Amino acid sequence: MFTYIDPSVRQRLIEAGKLFRIDRDGAGTISALGPIPLPLQLGEQHIDVQWYATVRNTELTKIEDFAAELRAKHGQQSFAELASSMAVNSVLLVGNLESWTNPLIRVHSSCMTGDVFGSQRCECGPQFQSAINLINQDEQGGMLVYMSGHEGRGIGLWAKAATYLLQDGGEDTYQANRTLGLPDDSRDFSDAASLIKYFRGGGPFRLLTNNPKKIVGLEGYGLEVTGREPIQVKPGEFNEEYLATKRTKLGHIL
Ligand SMILES: [Zn+2]
Repeated sequence: MFTYIDPSVRQRLIEAGKLFRIDRDGAGTISALGPIPLPLQLGEQHIDVQWYATVRNTELTKIEDFAAELRAKHGQQSFAELASSMAVNSVLLVGNLESWTNPLIRVHSSCMTGDVFGSQRCECGPQFQSAINLINQDEQGGMLVYMSGHEGRGIGLWAKAATYLLQDGGEDTYQANRTLGLPDDSRDFSDAASLIKYFRGGGPFRLLTNNPKKIVGLEGYGLEVTGREPIQVKPGEFNEEYLATKRTKLGHIL
């Protein structure tokens, strides 16, 4: 990370406007690095996006202090540990935000198995691709907020692996969380809301989601959602049951 590679690089990035703070109602709470051009190849589609990496300042400050200590002790090997303990969320911008009047926005929860491995136990991988495609095809363009701490609806990858084993023993995706004594959904959307507020300048937008509760949740942070756009992914033989549970138990519109 920039902060503990070399403090002079940090200063240079700030001066270039590539490292900046995003205020949450007046208090600087998020640091962002970007824009970083990222050419995406999704299937046949080539899409150019602007990437912003973002992190909570409270986490960053702790890491910076620890990094200064390590630097003094020449503890180079511990730097990898620092990097992995920080949740870095991403913003992918498509199109020109200056011309937005009512863009299309997606908040995507990270899913290692679906997004990276291409697992068909959920619909996250195809949903991510479909979301970027829909935003790219939209005449307004828009943005995707990728929430890295949302793995397994907030319980993390380790617990998610355990829930998969319980599911294979006959429990559905929500029962499995309860068996482990974990909440159904522990995702925190406050950072996503702050990022949308910043990049959207507080203006209206359409939300790409099948989950009407997400709209209510974001509106709770003072955001102006003018409508919901569905994101349809074909059910396959492995995720049919998972999608049915989402529909019947969580009110998703599929
Ligand atoms: Zn998934």
